[in-house]
Amino acid sequence: MSAPRLTLDLRRIEENARTLVQRLAPRGIRVVGVTKAALGAPAVARAMLAGGVTGLGDARLENLARLHAAGVEAPRTLIRAPMLSQVDAVVAVADRSLNSEAAVLDALAAAAVEQGRTHEVVLMVELGDLREGVAAGDLVGLARHVRARTGLVLAGIGTNLACQSGVVPDQAKMDELSALAADVEAACDVSLAVVSGGNSANLDWALRTEHVGRVDELRLGEAILLGTDPLHRRPIDGLHPDAVALVAEVIEVQVKPAQPWGHLAQSAFGPPGPRRDGPAVRQAIVAVGRQDIDPDDTTPPEGTTILGASSDHLVLDVGDTGVVVGDHLSFALGYSALVRAMTSPFVSKVMGR
Ligand SMILES: *Cc1c(COP(=O)(O)O)cnc(C)c1O
Repeated sequence: MSAPRLTLDLRRIEENARTLVQRLAPRGIRVVGVTKAALGAPAVARAMLAGGVTGLGDARLENLARLHAAGVEAPRTLIRAPMLSQVDAVVAVADRSLNSEAAVLDALAAAAVEQGRTHEVVLMVELGDLREGVAAGDLVGLARHVRARTGLVLAGIGTNLACQSGVVPDQAKMDELSALAADVEAACDVSLAVVSGGNSANLDWALRTEHVGRVDELRLGEAILLGTDPLHRRPIDGLHPDAVALVAEVIEVQVKPAQPWGHLAQSAFGPPGPRRDGPAVRQAIVAVGRQDIDPDDTTPPEGTTILGASSDHLVLDVGDTGVVVGDHLSFALGYSALVRAMTSPFVSKVMGR
């Protein structure tokens, strides 16, 4: 098989989704399967749906369009606020979007009316992570704004924590979200169908709390694909940590001095990492690079360590592992390595069971 290749085990992805869905269901929480790290691959979306997720979410409209075109049947949510320039396509392709700007909502409403559709809106509220969302004090006003627009349905509210600043979605934050849901319902005389609590970083809270409150939905990508909790990057008990792997080929194995020689300045990607002192190193070059993975978020095979990487070369200390030229080595990927591998045209994608 060709190298480098990214393998996605659809059975493990389905099982991860099912495990999370079954743990959250008794707590009254549904799961939207987030496909962005898989570029909206229909096979991955279908595996998530087979595992019981109730809808699909993606940050990129192109990915939602791909799911739509492939005939994947599930409600589609655009989980990044729509660009003002793309509202027509948003209404055509997504059933729902997460929003925080009145001007965008007005444009979505106009597009929905023109297309003879209704578009569901989830209003995002800023609870401290400083990415998307309106201030809590502005939420009711924006909800009223949505309610006054033909073409839009106020489906609910949501928040997103951890992604930008690492703010933990804890009980206090989720209680605040629940209270805001009640405020909006009282002020607008409406019942909200969705209170979307957050992403994979919410699982620690959601799986332990005794007080779910009004939170009835999470948007999960990383936990389903990688089995990890993004807050601490720890494996989640009972999930497959190995649904995704990158396989790449060794193109050189040579014994080299431990230290470079000559006058030293910056390397291709800034200051080079330290190389340890000591005897010569048995070093392998793997034909993959920063264009395809994030070397700081990639775990090499046992017995080897990553010494450095440039655009197209990954350099390993392979010690006495017996690695030879032509070997295909398998690497575990974190989220940032996964999105790069998935996005790189040089990495073939192998999805199977
Ligand atoms: C990416 C994203 C998610 C999913 O995050 P994971 O950590 O992959 O679960 C959920 N919500 C929003 C708004 C996102 O941008």
